[in-house]
Amino acid sequence: MSPLLQTIGISKAYPSGATIIQAVSNVSLLINRGEFVAIRGRSGSGKSTLLNLLGLLERPESGEYVLEGQAVAELSEDKRAAIRRQAIGFIFQLPVLLPRATALENVELPLIYAGIPRPQRHRIAKDALDRVGLADRGHHWPSQLSGGEQQRVVIARAIVNDPALILADEPTGALDSRTSDEILSLFEGLHLDGRTIIMVTHATNVADRAQRQITLHDGRILRDEGTSTQSSLTESPQ
Ligand code: ADP
Ligand code: MG
Repeated sequence: MSPLLQTIGISKAYPSGATIIQAVSNVSLLINRGEFVAIRGRSGSGKSTLLNLLGLLERPESGEYVLEGQAVAELSEDKRAAIRRQAIGFIFQLPVLLPRATALENVELPLIYAGIPRPQRHRIAKDALDRVGLADRGHHWPSQLSGGEQQRVVIARAIVNDPALILADEPTGALDSRTSDEILSLFEGLHLDGRTIIMVTHATNVADRAQRQITLHDGRILRDEGTSTQSSLTESPQ
């Protein structure tokens, strides 16, 4: 197994009135390529902050972060933005799509940033829409799609440039249970395709769909279960 990312003692605090809230506190974490990881914990336990640190949306105040072999915590904002565009696909609770662009055009966006020529772009974006079961919806406007379909378009956009890492923050939080189940099945399929997924959720039944579950409490890792990494570390001699 090859490591995709490693954090060493990363922390992030926010000011809150006269005090400071330690949202993520001294978190050390190793995630291998191909893992499907759930980050769980109660509201306010630091899940989103940790995901944003892993996604280079936030910068840790202390600690180290190595992504694909590169130390990224101290890089310039431009370099971090470039890594974010190229290596990370984001999915949030509420699907955010450009309202005046079709589903296909929305999925094409990362490919435009990557400078892929138009004919190739169309083909790759169509394949991504097909992968999420929306091959026949490419020319629909976001407003013509259901919430679950919009979230699928977001997932297609998140995978279209084949990122090393897919990050999802409560991706099923706004969906009914059947639609939520369909989205989770889609994640399971992407995991079987070999993709690396880190999904934040406060719901046990959602977290149970992942292979490994990391529980946060007050910004710290309380439990890390189902990890091959951890068992190989504890089983190794010395
Ligand atoms: P979760 O996603 O588990 O609900 P968060 O990471 O959003 O937790 O928040 C962790 C803690 O940090 C909470 O106490 C929250 O209020 C605080 N926090 C998060 N983001 C900010 C921010 N931008 N400004 C101030 N406080 C924040
Ligand atoms: Mg959150």
